[in-house]
Amino acid sequence: MELCEYRGKGILREHGIPVPEGRVVESPEGAKIAAAELGGEVVVKALVPAGGRGKAGGVRFAASPEEAAEAAEALLGMHIKGYRVRRLLVERRLEILRELYACVAVDREAGMPLVMLSREGGVEVEEVPEHLIARAHVEPLTGFHPYMARELCAEAGLRGGELRQVAEVLHRMYGVFQSRDALLVEVNPLAITPGGVVAADAKLSIDDDAWFRQGMEQREEQRYVELEGSIGCIVNGAGLAMATMDTLKRLGGEPANFLDIGGGAGAEAMKRAVARVTSNPSVRVLLVNILGGITRCDEIAEGIVEAVQEVRVPVVVRLMGTNEEEGRQILRAAGIEVERDMLAAARLAVELSKSI
Ligand code: GDP
Ligand code: MN
Repeated sequence: MELCEYRGKGILREHGIPVPEGRVVESPEGAKIAAAELGGEVVVKALVPAGGRGKAGGVRFAASPEEAAEAAEALLGMHIKGYRVRRLLVERRLEILRELYACVAVDREAGMPLVMLSREGGVEVEEVPEHLIARAHVEPLTGFHPYMARELCAEAGLRGGELRQVAEVLHRMYGVFQSRDALLVEVNPLAITPGGVVAADAKLSIDDDAWFRQGMEQREEQRYVELEGSIGCIVNGAGLAMATMDTLKRLGGEPANFLDIGGGAGAEAMKRAVARVTSNPSVRVLLVNILGGITRCDEIAEGIVEAVQEVRVPVVVRLMGTNEEEGRQILRAAGIEVERDMLAAARLAVELSKSI
């Protein structure tokens, strides 16, 4: 599970790593107020759980609260890496002298954490030749000690006070990695500023299997990716969700999203899924494709009936599996058409998406 930049930076801050002061906003007005509070000169960033925002036009600079509002206006609603931009991070702008790259990741082949550091950070980091990235594997039982961090910094070509500051940050990053059950803690750029070293960006990925002991809110079971089309898809199982999108495409339709609602698709999960998918204004028809296995079709049907009550677009349901007949009866009684065959349901959804 990837955390958004703002939450990632919150965790870095808790571990004593300097991060810029910032606010999350959802409107140009909010951006203006935030910029005024932060002292005017800010950077406005699209808050989506993906990297490469800078190159995609998702990072803008503003010299005044008015400019921040303009930047927000331009960013909100943009699509970046399949995510619609709904929230922005407004931060006090840093004066960046140089950009380093710092990262702690799981090296699956070595079966160990790997700490990496390069003097050549920033948006072009993929282009940095291997030999300019210093690396150190960490024996998890003995840990990553301050002297190891300093060695790595020296290997990366840092010296003096800068070496000491960066080593401190790296050591703390490893602390985040270990105590938060992370798979990745990446800071790019780690910014050298006149006031010291600052994490100007943060990418944290937490091991899904560790959420229970991280005391974080309920792990998000539903995997959702927004796409460009008009057919909203609610499907249980990632494989079936892919197959559904392929089928729609072959029939000349365009899926509006990928969504796997996970196992045990009860009424609550169904309601959340419907709310999420129909919040995309491009959705013109909803296709619910459910295969009842462990979860029984009658339970699912009750969930669908409850969840689609207020939906403004036509709904096509394909349902098969355990207790299918009971499920079908529940849906029919509520006036919802059900198909047994996936192809037939997809065809109907494509037709509806074009006729409205
Ligand atoms: P990413 O492209 O998604 O990784 O987004 P980043 O948060 O890393 O921002 C992209 C680039 O914008 C960074 O590499 C910096 O060069 C630049 N940038 C971000 N924040 C600041 C800032 O406060 N000051 C300056 N001067 N540049 C910034
Ligand atoms: Mn970055």
